[in-house]
Amino acid sequence: MRMGRYEDLSVEELESLRKELKQSYREYQNMDLNLDMSRGKPSLDQLDLSNGMMDALNSEADMYSSDGFDVRNYGVLGGIAEAKELLSDMMENNPDNIIIFGNSSLNVMYDSISRSYSHGVMGNTPWCKLDKIKWLCPVPGYDRHFAITEYFGIEMINVPMTEKGPDMDIVEELVASDESIKGIWCVPKYSNPQGYSYSDETVRRFARLKPAAKDFRIYWDNAYGMHHLYDHDQDYLIEILAECKRAGNPDLVYKFASTSKISFPGSGIASMATSLNNLEDIKKQMQYQTIGHDKVNQLRHVRFFEDIHGMVKHMMKHADIIRPKFEMVESVFEKNLNGLDIGSWTNPKGGYFISFETLPGCAKEVVDKCKKAGVKLTSAGATFPYGKDPEDSNIRIAPTYPPLEDLRIATELFCLCVKLISVEKLLKKKTSGL
Ligand code: PMP
Repeated sequence: MRMGRYEDLSVEELESLRKELKQSYREYQNMDLNLDMSRGKPSLDQLDLSNGMMDALNSEADMYSSDGFDVRNYGVLGGIAEAKELLSDMMENNPDNIIIFGNSSLNVMYDSISRSYSHGVMGNTPWCKLDKIKWLCPVPGYDRHFAITEYFGIEMINVPMTEKGPDMDIVEELVASDESIKGIWCVPKYSNPQGYSYSDETVRRFARLKPAAKDFRIYWDNAYGMHHLYDHDQDYLIEILAECKRAGNPDLVYKFASTSKISFPGSGIASMATSLNNLEDIKKQMQYQTIGHDKVNQLRHVRFFEDIHGMVKHMMKHADIIRPKFEMVESVFEKNLNGLDIGSWTNPKGGYFISFETLPGCAKEVVDKCKKAGVKLTSAGATFPYGKDPEDSNIRIAPTYPPLEDLRIATELFCLCVKLISVEKLLKKKTSGL
């Protein structure tokens, strides 16, 4: 029987549907599943793509960087020249505007907030001496961003995401009117979790913000800049540093990126691009923090990828592995849920996630139900500051890690749980006369 909208079903129809769905759910429970769709990790075969990096710098290799430094020894605070060149091509910035850090861009974001707290931004009052610091958080967003700002006791303000990026009317108004707002989290390309990319207008409006706080910075986390799923159908963004400069706001943005999901998560290289004024400010602190980051890893990356063209080709190999997973999840959603009006989902062209919206008040129960049948999802609420999704409707789907067949089973089960919880919600609504 082809179903129409669940909302249109009678109480009797909903009850008989619930019975059927419960029976199917029990069958899944009997399968003793143990599947994990909770984090955006590359799969094993994606990791294998970069194993050649181990040979790229073996014991026979020349250990000198192009500018004559022995990478095995101390020194070179901002990164070796060829790593700066590669990462600046990746980030679409001038090498002069880049610093290479260690293995994690999240770490650099954390340090940037920490430095602003202890020493202030470019001569402004350190945040620790101010009564209140606030931050704008486009929602749904990345849980680890929100965790950093929560850890520092920063008050987080939700800003709704649209398909074109954060609602800029709200962003403009808030930053212009409140000096205690010091930053905003942005994942401008293939956002986590919706896979949306900011429109030209959004980027232009960001570059033209007029914050009340002189030390307001946009945290532009371009984690998925190279992570397209398709060869020909890709999102392009206006480059934010250049746009800020054009708009007369050169110091407004810190841009972050890393090779975590290009080479190895946790063993990649991270970088930041920003204005020369900001770089000077940041390097003042960095010189006390370290003598230099891991240059061996920097050189290893450059020897392996050679240049940006090598990296682009490498990313297409990643895409060939994960594209079928995204397409499979979307087709299972389509087959099971289309027309029922109990859920909607995004169809990203890149990044690592699909975002799913249940009926209001269902997300937590869906995630619990999946867990009880052996499928682990990102906790409901995780995509919002303080873990609180006001609508309890957003679920982040991370399709990359499990093998395709496991993912298919997990997605089928997910759809079943969405149906079951939606039916129960609708039944409750109808029988209580609400
Ligand atoms: N930013 C975003 C938006 C991410 O999704 C991730 C990884 N899931 C990171 C940063 C983490 O980056 P890194 O490994 O460079 O710390």
